[in-house]
Parts: sequence; C-alpha cells; structure tokens
Amino acid sequence: MAHEYVEIEGISVPTGHFIGGEHVSSVETFETRSPMQWDWKLADIARGTKETANQAVTAAVDAFPVWSRYTVQDRATCLQHLADLIDENKDDIATVECLDMAMLLESLKLRLIPRAALNFRNYSNIIIEAEERAWSSKGTLNRIIRMPAGPAVIITPWNAPFMLSTWKVAPALASGNTVILKPAEWSPLSAAKLTEFINEAGFPSGAFNIVQGFGSDLGAALVSDQRVKRVSFTGSPKTARKIGHAAAQNIVPFTAELGGKGPLIVFEDCDLDAAAKKAAGQFDDSGQVCLAGTRLLVQTGVMGDFLKLFHAYTDQHVMGDSRDAATTMAALIHPLHIEKVAAFVERARAKGDKIIRGGKIHKEGMLWYEPTLIQPKSNNSEIVQNEIFGPVLTIQDFETEEEAIALANSTKYGLSGIIYTSSAERAERVGRAVRSGIVWINCFLIRDLSAPFGGIGESGIGREGGDYALDFHADLKTLQIYEGSVT
Ligand code: ADP
Repeated sequence: MAHEYVEIEGISVPTGHFIGGEHVSSVETFETRSPMQWDWKLADIARGTKETANQAVTAAVDAFPVWSRYTVQDRATCLQHLADLIDENKDDIATVECLDMAMLLESLKLRLIPRAALNFRNYSNIIIEAEERAWSSKGTLNRIIRMPAGPAVIITPWNAPFMLSTWKVAPALASGNTVILKPAEWSPLSAAKLTEFINEAGFPSGAFNIVQGFGSDLGAALVSDQRVKRVSFTGSPKTARKIGHAAAQNIVPFTAELGGKGPLIVFEDCDLDAAAKKAAGQFDDSGQVCLAGTRLLVQTGVMGDFLKLFHAYTDQHVMGDSRDAATTMAALIHPLHIEKVAAFVERARAKGDKIIRGGKIHKEGMLWYEPTLIQPKSNNSEIVQNEIFGPVLTIQDFETEEEAIALANSTKYGLSGIIYTSSAERAERVGRAVRSGIVWINCFLIRDLSAPFGGIGESGIGREGGDYALDFHADLKTLQIYEGSVT
C-alpha cells in the first residue's frame, strides 16, 4: 500500500504502521490532537487491529533467524547508525513530539531526543564490551551464554514517549531479539517519525516493527501472541496486571515499570535553597513524570523557611506554549487527563485536605493546571497515597529520621526517592532505608544508562538498564565444559 504521511508544520510524518520494513496502512484511523490547542487535529493515524498484531508478530518471527545471527559488531553498527539518524533529525522529532504531547521543545531538543540517540549508541557499546561470564569449578569450565530469546513486544506510555520507547527498544535489539513496539495512542507521532529511519539504519526487514493503535485490542493481541518471547511494558499498574496475566499464560518473562509517588525528603542540615528549588522543579513537565518526588517531607524546624523558598521558586513557573523557551509548565496531555487531575484535587478539598496553593485549572477550557501544593489531613489521604501524574505535590512535616523513613515507605509504590542532606552518614542510612528502585541524594533525574532501573511494589517488577536488560532479553545458558582429557 502507498506510503501515507501527513505534513505537520512542514515536517512529514508517516501515518501508518511499520511492519517487515514497509509502511502499512489500516482501514481505521484515530485522531491525535495537540494539548496546546485541543481543536488542532495533528493527524489521523492508522489504528491497528488483531490482524495488524498478527502481521507484525509474523514479521518479527520471520526476521528473528536473520537478526539474531548478525554478529555483535553488525548489530552495533545498525544501532549506531540509528543513533546518528536520530541526532540528525533531532529538531523534527522534537517538534513533532512537542506538538503531540506538549513536552517542552527546548528540553526535547537538548535533553530527551539526544538521550534517545544515546540509548542506541550506549547499547551498541554495551554489547560489544559485554563479557561472557566464565569460571572453573569441579574440573569443568562454566561458560554463561546469552542466547537471543525471540520476538519482544514493547508497550510504552504517552509521557516522554520517544525517550522511553527507545530506552526499552535498544537493549532488545542489541540482544538480537526482534521488536514490535506499540507506542501509546495519546502520543503516537514521534514513534511514527522513527519509522522513517529504520531501513536507512540497516536493520533487516522485520527486525524492528512499530504498530499504532489502542491497548485494548492491538496491545492485548500483541502481548497474548504465543510466538512472543519477551514483554516489556511501561504504564499503569492496572494495565500491568492484564499484560502480566497474558505473559503468565504463555510463560513469558515480563518487566513492568509502573507509577510512582516518590518522597522528596528535606532534612534541616541540607542546602535548603537547593532543596526548595528542586521541590518546585517537580512541577516541570507539569508533573507528568513517574519519577517525580511528589510527596515533600520536610523536617519541622525548617518548614517555614522551606515554604518561603518553595513559593518563590514556584512563582517563577510559566504556563504556556511548549514551543516558547520561556515556558516551564506544559499543557497536560488530554482533556480526560486534566479532568482526572482536577478530580483528585476536588476530592482532597472535599475531604478536608488543605490546598496551600493552586488547586485549579489555569484557564477554563484549556489544559494547563496550576502548580498545586496540598497539606493532607492524614497520611492516609488519597492525595498522598495515589499517583496523580499532574502538577500536584503534597507536603508533610517530620521530626526524626525514623519518622521520615516511615512516611517515605508508607505508600504501595517504590520507584524513586530524593533526599536532601549535608550529612554523608545520614544520606547513606536513609538512602538504604527508603524502599525504591533509585534514591537520589542532593540531586534528581541524573541516571547512568548502565545502572539498573525499575520499581518495587506497585511501581513494577524487573530491572532494565545496562547488563540487566541484556539478561532480561536473553535465554541464559550454561556451557559446562570438561577440562580434563576425555578418556
Ligand atoms: P497510562 O495510564 O499511563 O495511559 P496505560 O497502562 O493505560 O497507562 O497505557 C500504557 C500503554 O499500555 C499504552 O500504550 C496503552 O495503549 C497500552 N495498553 C493499555 N491496555 C493494554 C492491554 N490490555 N494490553 C496491552 N497494552 C495495553
């Protein structure tokens, strides 16, 4: 079928799926609109069905014997080439994603799209440098081999979609698995743009497929296909349960990176200005960040001073068009999402939690929500316990380190934590005690791509990043070689 595309602000974007090295259309389409101006329809995108899922898995199955037998160097060359193409087309990818999900353009150009390129470049290095583990014991040599596992389905969410998708795709391809990526239906355009570079990067047909559509039909069909050998998901706990069920039916390894409700703990011995600035910085991207420190836990003695600084930094936020360099807070992704955020705050208000600032939609009929700070009536308040995924923070005080740790660990989540303190001993003690996949001490969001990444409890299962993702995507085998002479 003809290669269909749409022109958005002078940038051509394919509207179809990418299966077996070709763009493929669907009879049905779905609309994607710009959160910055909801009456602005950006594109009609192909809406995949069960048949699309079947076609994509077949392409990935057929390509597996080819791609998995590429030498590590040849795989690395494709990954590097894709990274180069992403870098070369960074501005277009950033613009398309900015229009599609209202992520700040500057941050996309400087941070997120280069980081996506780095995801591929990094894994090209990791697989070249990956050492086979080997040791002698009992007169034999144990050699551990990573065998490519087969087609991997990767399902991703609507926030930071390009960076997040590539972060999961890179290790799968590096491992020799073929990939079917399904991006989220609320922000499909940057993945659509990526389909333009896959053939040029040198991947064999079917090694890397991208399909567009909804989770309930296309996504569900992908994850339940018995030919799929790995499922890697980022999204909500509710969907993770369904996907985990499908993976369990097929006895297929599954990783899930889910929500968070991270604590940001401010001890009175810390650099208070830096802590308050970082706390106000949790409103960046309008809080649509699973790693955000959304529960501010502040030691009682510095609460007053902290609040003064926090308000001053929060006052500096600018809600506006994400293409404008002055904007720091973007529109929320979708009318249904802002409705959900607003409903959380209204329920909190009704139950007696104190709205310290914000608590309303910025301009009626538009998708900006004011930076909001809430002092909960109790730690059991819904506003403290559940992920909101918007610019809404809670604030609670504590007296002792033990109290801070207890509060930090009091939700069902465990993705990330942030600690501000000047004491190395305290940083070590509290850092170890906070139950989450990552704890930042006197910093936030800095992350080495080789480190493991994932959550505890409802924040997910499994770890990705570095060698950890290579292990997930491989079938590990032990070659047990007799070291004596065979008689
Ligand atoms: P969010 O609440 O962040 O939108 P979701 O878990 O609803 O998170 O969606 C994340 C991704 O999961 C999206 O790509 C969505 O289409 C997909 N998805 C939703 N339901 C299913 C399902 N039953 N099977 C497979 N994928 C799904």
